[in-house]
Amino acid sequence: MSAIPDLRRITVRQSPRSPTRKILESFDQVVVVAPKSPSASLLRGIPQAGPLRKLLARSGGQSASTRLPCDNATGLLLATFTAATTFAALSWSKGIVALALRDRPGKLGVLVVGLPDDARQAALTSLVAACEAAAFELPRYQSMKSRKRRLSSVTLLGSDPRVDLDSIRAQALGNDIARWFTALPPNKLTSSSYREAIEALAEQYGLESDFLGESRLEKLGAGAFIAVSQGNANRDAGILHLRYRPKKKGSPDVALVGKGILFDTGGTNLKPFKSMLDMHMDMQGSAVALGTIIALAELSVPYAVDAWLAITPNCLSARSYKSQDVVTAANGTTIQVIHTDAEGRMVLADALALASRETPGLIIDFATLTGTCVAALTERYSGVFSNRGAANALMRKAGELSGERVWPFPMDADFDEPLKSDIADIKQCAPDASGDHILAARFLSRFVPEEIPWIHIDLSAGQNKGGLGHVPTEVTGFGVKLTLELLLQNAPQEISDALSE
Ligand SMILES: [Zn+2]
Repeated sequence: MSAIPDLRRITVRQSPRSPTRKILESFDQVVVVAPKSPSASLLRGIPQAGPLRKLLARSGGQSASTRLPCDNATGLLLATFTAATTFAALSWSKGIVALALRDRPGKLGVLVVGLPDDARQAALTSLVAACEAAAFELPRYQSMKSRKRRLSSVTLLGSDPRVDLDSIRAQALGNDIARWFTALPPNKLTSSSYREAIEALAEQYGLESDFLGESRLEKLGAGAFIAVSQGNANRDAGILHLRYRPKKKGSPDVALVGKGILFDTGGTNLKPFKSMLDMHMDMQGSAVALGTIIALAELSVPYAVDAWLAITPNCLSARSYKSQDVVTAANGTTIQVIHTDAEGRMVLADALALASRETPGLIIDFATLTGTCVAALTERYSGVFSNRGAANALMRKAGELSGERVWPFPMDADFDEPLKSDIADIKQCAPDASGDHILAARFLSRFVPEEIPWIHIDLSAGQNKGGLGHVPTEVTGFGVKLTLELLLQNAPQEISDALSE
């Protein structure tokens, strides 16, 4: 199996006309969404009102299903919708889509009755997002291939006014890409195969790509990245720089930076088994940045976007970096290495410094960075940090609107105390101090010039048992939907202007 995901999508149609009985019976499965306490007249004029009335009576305000007495034995699922937040709507849609897809329908129809416009919009966009997420297949290596039918189309029936699906579908595309790479086994996703797959996707979506391998990084002075990558016997690590340019020239309006640690052994300070088990997912930040820039290209946004993906394993070998090494990052800052398992902030240091050289209007970085962020927020929220306090409200709003919820942490300068070094400009980390997620953010801030607004997202919600929101898999791809919501509500220029006031 190639490391390149199969991104063929399900078809999503909107049909403004009310469906006839014949149309309803042409689907393998129909989902009818209704309010919790429907009025008596609600189902008047809808075909199959009889079976629907019975379902309403026994749904108990939740959901109920039956099969229509037609040749196709179309499945009919009635679902009541009461969600008050985007996250609740997405979580609802995950459950409804799991029920609707139980018998592996190929063609799914969705009809909303009796809901006000905003609830109707929320129900439909959530259901489309959940169908996309459930229909996308993560990598599998089972020798018995599944012959089961897959969902091929979703039709929104009686969809007038029409729902704007472009951003939902672009979010799904980016999320699929993020989840795909994160789920790949570590022997399938090496620095080389990841790079090749990304370069193929970049070409497909019209992005320029430039790979900075170790020798070029050495010339750029990126000693923090190389400290981590030097333990890799294949020497194929590097920072991949992607550019989306709707116009020919200009510096980026936004730069997305991602941590791409392909497998994190912890290095010389080796992790124990349980902590290492899922460490092939430690590259999720880079996959989220990649999914986001591709989604923005798919939407043809009018501004320039960069992505900087810092890709390397953190290996244990004779060449691996060690505690008390002192290395110099690309912006000249010297770092006293303390714990080799704090490698994420090392590779991000150089990726942030290199991204900053292009003077972007805004930098957003993504990383599965610290256990303390998970301890503080669980795997349901991710943490946000910024060198502009005003970014916190923007991010919380984007979190609420997208359903990918975030919570801001402080990063005042006095948190620097434990990072003071006697031998270098800064210590990499301070294992005996508390609040490592805050210290990590303080450390990273040293590699972003003060004049550039910067948002750091610690992806504690990147992995959650049972999925999260509309995403049914343990790998959540958290961050793509959040960032797209942020950038689609406000262009990057508006955000950097607002944060510069
Ligand atoms: Zn680590």
